[in-house]
Amino acid sequence: MTRYVYDFVEGNKDLKDLLGGKGANLAEMTRMGLPVPPGFTVTTDACREYLRTGTMPTGLLGEVEHHLRMVQNQIGKTFGDPEDPLLLSVRSGAKFSMPGMMETILDIGLSDTSVAGLGRQTGDERFAWDSYRRLIQMFGKTVFDVPGEAFDDELAAAGGIGADLSVAQLQDLVLAYKKVFHAHTGRDFPQASHEQLFLAIGAVFRSWNAERATLYRRQERIPQDLGTAVNVMAMVFGNRGEDSGTGVAFTRDPATGRRGVYGDYLRNAQGEDVVAGIRNTMSLAELATIDPASHRQLLSIMQRLEQRYRDLCDIEFTIENGKLWMLQTRVGKRTPAAAFVIAAQLVDEGTITLDEALQRVTGEQLAQLMFPSFDTAAAPEPLTTGVPASPGAAVGMIVFDSDAAAAATEPVILVRRETNPDDLPGMIAAQGILTSRGGKTSHAAVVARGMGKTCVCGAEQLVIDEDSVTVAGRTLHAGDVISLDGTTGKVYPGAVAVRPSRVVRYFEGELTAHGDPLLAAVERLMIHADHTARLAVHANADTGADAARARRFGATGVGLCRTEHMFLGDRRVLIERLILGDDGALAELLPLQRADFEELFTAMDGMPVTVRLIDPPLHEFLPPLEELTARVARAEALGQDPGRDGTLLTAVRRMHEQNPMLGLRGVRLGLVIPGLFAMQVRAIAEAAAAQVAAGGDPRPEIMVPLVGAVQELETVRAEAEAVLASVLGAPPIRIGTMIEVPRAALTAGQIAGAAEFFSFGTNDLTQMTWGFSRDDVEGAFFGRYLQLGIFAASPFETIDSDGVGELVRIAVERGRASRPGLTVGVCGEHGGDPASVRFFHDTGLDYVSCSPFRVPIARLEAGRAASAAAGSDSR
Ligand code: PEP
Ligand code: MG
Repeated sequence: MTRYVYDFVEGNKDLKDLLGGKGANLAEMTRMGLPVPPGFTVTTDACREYLRTGTMPTGLLGEVEHHLRMVQNQIGKTFGDPEDPLLLSVRSGAKFSMPGMMETILDIGLSDTSVAGLGRQTGDERFAWDSYRRLIQMFGKTVFDVPGEAFDDELAAAGGIGADLSVAQLQDLVLAYKKVFHAHTGRDFPQASHEQLFLAIGAVFRSWNAERATLYRRQERIPQDLGTAVNVMAMVFGNRGEDSGTGVAFTRDPATGRRGVYGDYLRNAQGEDVVAGIRNTMSLAELATIDPASHRQLLSIMQRLEQRYRDLCDIEFTIENGKLWMLQTRVGKRTPAAAFVIAAQLVDEGTITLDEALQRVTGEQLAQLMFPSFDTAAAPEPLTTGVPASPGAAVGMIVFDSDAAAAATEPVILVRRETNPDDLPGMIAAQGILTSRGGKTSHAAVVARGMGKTCVCGAEQLVIDEDSVTVAGRTLHAGDVISLDGTTGKVYPGAVAVRPSRVVRYFEGELTAHGDPLLAAVERLMIHADHTARLAVHANADTGADAARARRFGATGVGLCRTEHMFLGDRRVLIERLILGDDGALAELLPLQRADFEELFTAMDGMPVTVRLIDPPLHEFLPPLEELTARVARAEALGQDPGRDGTLLTAVRRMHEQNPMLGLRGVRLGLVIPGLFAMQVRAIAEAAAAQVAAGGDPRPEIMVPLVGAVQELETVRAEAEAVLASVLGAPPIRIGTMIEVPRAALTAGQIAGAAEFFSFGTNDLTQMTWGFSRDDVEGAFFGRYLQLGIFAASPFETIDSDGVGELVRIAVERGRASRPGLTVGVCGEHGGDPASVRFFHDTGLDYVSCSPFRVPIARLEAGRAASAAAGSDSR
């Protein structure tokens, strides 16, 4: 029979699937001998079973009773005892942390009789009644969905949070809360402690499917079917007076990675008060002055946890009458900058290897570091400065509530006193989040950091009302624009100009890493990534300037030059003439193309440059059909000769296509328009010959797009080879093909007979494999597909490894079987996508090619893929 409950002494940190993150880590701390209150974890298996059947799994309640007896024995108190009750907390804890997303119920086990017993035992009646009113409130909200405001209104009527309510006032509040409870549920607040416990466990199970939790998982790409574990633990109290309190702390600064401990402590407070950011907190340094013994013990525990987890940890702790208790730890979330800095520090400290350090950072994090920041020289005086909780530069119009943010069509900044999990949709939609309360560990800060969203919190000078915010005598309204600097905490009026990131300037060669911990960490990890990677990283670049930037960013070739981009602007008219059959147009295009290629080969001297012959349909270069029809009709109505417009109209009508992405394009164009490909091939060869003559080392390759049959490629190849043979002084130039039509992938064995290399055009391959047009569908139904889980991510961003990826695997295998050593790369958008880079590594490609800006991201991911495959955990 499946076992559903594990005591904390039985688990360990590697059992996250079964015990959830929180449960596994509580078990680990218990094993380390740290002061964790006794307790047990109900497994994720139990949750999944409960959600499947809608009832408690058989045997679960008996197991809970058994483990509860063990807790009672350890503590020496009995659950439900009217004189000296054991109280319990019940907390959710899934495999992946979902900050503030799920449920917690404290003080379970109190009733009308045991509240008096607790008061007598502790000699603190106020505390006992305050605990009881908290229980009714949390239990009502969580288990029976009683609206929080119903309790809040009663609390406000009694004097509000933090008010020094007397015992009598608290007793009245309990009565009022019980009435609220009854009014909303039609039943009395349950007095039996075991019933409270079982109802609470069921509520935590159900909270897995709460809307905000589902939304958070979708956003974070956490699978929806994991379920949560439930941790049941003996209560310890941070609200027992001035020698008690509760806090959260990080073993290093989660914003910058700086060494040292960082945290917030709230005196005489319980549980979620700190995380909710409702009251302002004191620092750990201040804790050292009021309770040096607990502070010393806390620091030594944090050091041990770092050694055990070999990473930054965050913790939640409570001090009850001067005794320290650990309530939670986990490997802590951090900003992208902190991720790089900490990974490098841990290598320096001898804690992890460089390979492991690579696994501690991601391409997405590097992408975030490449975002721009504010040009502070151009910024006005800030309105105020808050806590810099999550970096970035956000500009937008003020909105005061989450629904407005979610509905906005313009960039917005969500401005709130504090946020709570219900604000999630607004936080996702906003450019940035600004709050007036709470520190780096408030809900707003934790969630924003997790999403990589700019956040400034705890800007205490802001006075936020329903529809205005006042600061330093100035009042702003919804719709006014502000700028948030999540790196410094500054809040500016108006839109501040943004400037490129330091990391980008470093890649550009404008800054050195010397003396800058972040740049030094990036440099070190990039060097190791390049050293480890098996995949090379090329860039998609059409101009010398793009190619030069790509090279500065570390590209070792151009994997795709889209030559059609060279036919825009003034040259359009030459294409019109070409379409109208004017051979002179080709002769005029030749020197222009040659100059384009010279520029590109010079920028990439000594590295391969894959030039793709013209791809998109020629009609894209012509005036739109409607416009031309109108022009001709107007001329005819005036009795004038439409002249060239008339001839053009005939050509446009002939070439008009409903879905131009599947029509006369790619290799088909080359076969239909005489001389077009030959002109391009000649331009490539002559440009290369000129560069050789000038002492350079050009390495062009010619790539044929949209091939579906080997015969197409053979025909183009024969023509190209004849041209190449006629150009004196050109270096050897390989001819290969894109694989972007499913038929090409399936017949890759034949195609490899005529191709010296393959490059996967995964943009087209995706649209043709799925049968949806890449230009039309994203807005049309992708949202719904993502919601339904048909896509985990857009297949145009992350390679669909089961479908499109299977075609890639087939083509690599058949191509290499027919031509051993065939060079294979990818030049679709997926080449710069972290998850896809991993796939291409695993599939045995030689290189990925992506836009210049994504080159560093692909380099990092190529290194990560190789070091992960090599078993990064070996030290
Ligand atoms: C592709 O299809 O993946 C590709 C790189 O070509 P394009 O995007 O130019 O069609
Ligand atoms: Mg394509």
